[in-house]
Amino acid sequence: MMGKTTRRILAFGLFLFATALGAGAAGWFGYSSSLAGLALRGQADLTRASDRLVGQLQRFRQVAVLMADHPELVALTKGQGDVDRVNSLLLSIADKTGSDAIMLASGKGQVLAHSTLRPVFNLTGQPHYDRAMHGALGISHNYNSPTNQRIFSFGAPIIQSGHVLGAVIVSVDIETIEESDWRGDLHAVFFTDDAGLIFVANRSELVMRTRQALKGGAFASVRQRAGYEIWSLNSGPYIPKNALHLTKPLPIIGMRGEVLVSTAPALRLAWLQGAAVAAILLGLGAILFWLTERRRAMAARLRLEAKANEELEIRVEQRSVELKQAQSELLQSAKLAALGQMSAGISHELNQPLMAIRSFAENAETFIERGKPGVALKNLSRISELARRMGRIISNFRAFAKQESEPVGDVDAVAVIEAVIEMNEARFVQEKIRLNWSGANAAILVRAGEVRLQQVLVNLISNAIDAMEDIRYPRIEISVECDAEKARITVRDNGPGIKQPEKIFEPYYTTKAVGKSDGMGLGLSISYGLVQSFGGDIRGRNHKSGGAVFTVELPLAKQKDAA
Ligand code: ADP
Repeated sequence: MMGKTTRRILAFGLFLFATALGAGAAGWFGYSSSLAGLALRGQADLTRASDRLVGQLQRFRQVAVLMADHPELVALTKGQGDVDRVNSLLLSIADKTGSDAIMLASGKGQVLAHSTLRPVFNLTGQPHYDRAMHGALGISHNYNSPTNQRIFSFGAPIIQSGHVLGAVIVSVDIETIEESDWRGDLHAVFFTDDAGLIFVANRSELVMRTRQALKGGAFASVRQRAGYEIWSLNSGPYIPKNALHLTKPLPIIGMRGEVLVSTAPALRLAWLQGAAVAAILLGLGAILFWLTERRRAMAARLRLEAKANEELEIRVEQRSVELKQAQSELLQSAKLAALGQMSAGISHELNQPLMAIRSFAENAETFIERGKPGVALKNLSRISELARRMGRIISNFRAFAKQESEPVGDVDAVAVIEAVIEMNEARFVQEKIRLNWSGANAAILVRAGEVRLQQVLVNLISNAIDAMEDIRYPRIEISVECDAEKARITVRDNGPGIKQPEKIFEPYYTTKAVGKSDGMGLGLSISYGLVQSFGGDIRGRNHKSGGAVFTVELPLAKQKDAA
């Protein structure tokens, strides 16, 4: 029992484990596939944001390029022209284009004219200027801490007959670009320089922080999931806690675009998928559990039933053995009871021939003395005949009294009837009953046990005698006849008839007073069993001209023509 319970707990645990595994796998699968979707969209958003930024910056570079061809500016680099006029030109262009500042620098880095009132220093050493002085377009960014400005600066060379005379510098405040349209984008997009400094971003809290600081914050970590870089951050309500990190190099502006795409939808989907799978598995498990429980209960019930059946069979067997024993005892006691009834006649039966023998013997003596041996011889033969008859009577009774289970065999019904008549002869005489026995001219072989068939017939005759107690001229008629298959023995009396013909074969049914001639109500029920055991039938009915008729039907013995 214990083993079974632990096995079930183990199976349950295993099932839970498998369910968790299945749900986890489903969740992981859902997470990975939705991460891929997020990455695709994130990359598209990043590209769009990058294009927008680069496009906006490009405008200012064009301004620088265009201004580099302006004749007044070119003149100024040659030491000609009017500085004030150029200053006001630059100022008006800066206002119109939204630039923070436009300057004209000489080949030595001195600012020749500018649109701003801020003090300006020598530009030598600044990347955008240096690049321009090499005849190329330069770009650089820097942070102006006093004004808290992030500035992108473009440098365009002023070239005359192959010589770089100076450069036009156009600066733009990033704030104006950020403010214009891309705050409030769905994802946090930012642009970092080579040092990892976040220079441009659509989330103000990210600006001027380094990527490193962002990644390495107190609560931050970076991990790889399904081939993607996931950042865990704690940077305020506008930055996702868990985000997919994607990048895009932007060499044109010397920066790298980066985006943080919240993984929350993917996680939600993963949980949902995992939970759905877990629910399905648990449901299936519950059904499976229910089925096995039912099967187990059924098996237990079947086992119980089988055991009960077995016990019942054993009891039935025991009871049938007991019953058989009781039956054979009953049979014997019924037989002895019949014998008791007949015994009164036995002495009479034996006495009569004995007296006859004595007188025949005495007479024989006399005849011999008188010298008539012929008559004496006749007497002697009568004596031996009578002795034979006595012997037969005795052997009849002895055979009847024996308690033996004789087998069913081929029995002469006529001989049995005659033996029974012989046994009851004394009673017939005593009760003044006229017997009408038709006899038969040949033996009729039937399937039966000799003593048992005798017992049946003795019982029928006893019942007839009992029934005719108050009849003036009692008469018993016995006959036997047969057809192709059956022999029929009938015992008929002229008594009052059967009161309840349908009940007479029931055990303990009797109409006789208790104590009177053994009225136990068992005689006919025993007879019924005996005749059935021969494969025959016994019936009792009332004759239409009065009295009871009992018929014992027996199967004929098989013909042995071959023998
Ligand atoms: P018992 O003889 O001990 O009563 P039986 O089983 O032999 O038991 O008979 C049962 C009953 O059948 C009898 O009590 C009687 O009422 C009825 N019966 C049997 N034989 C006859 C008969 N020849 N005539 C009338 N009734 C009979």
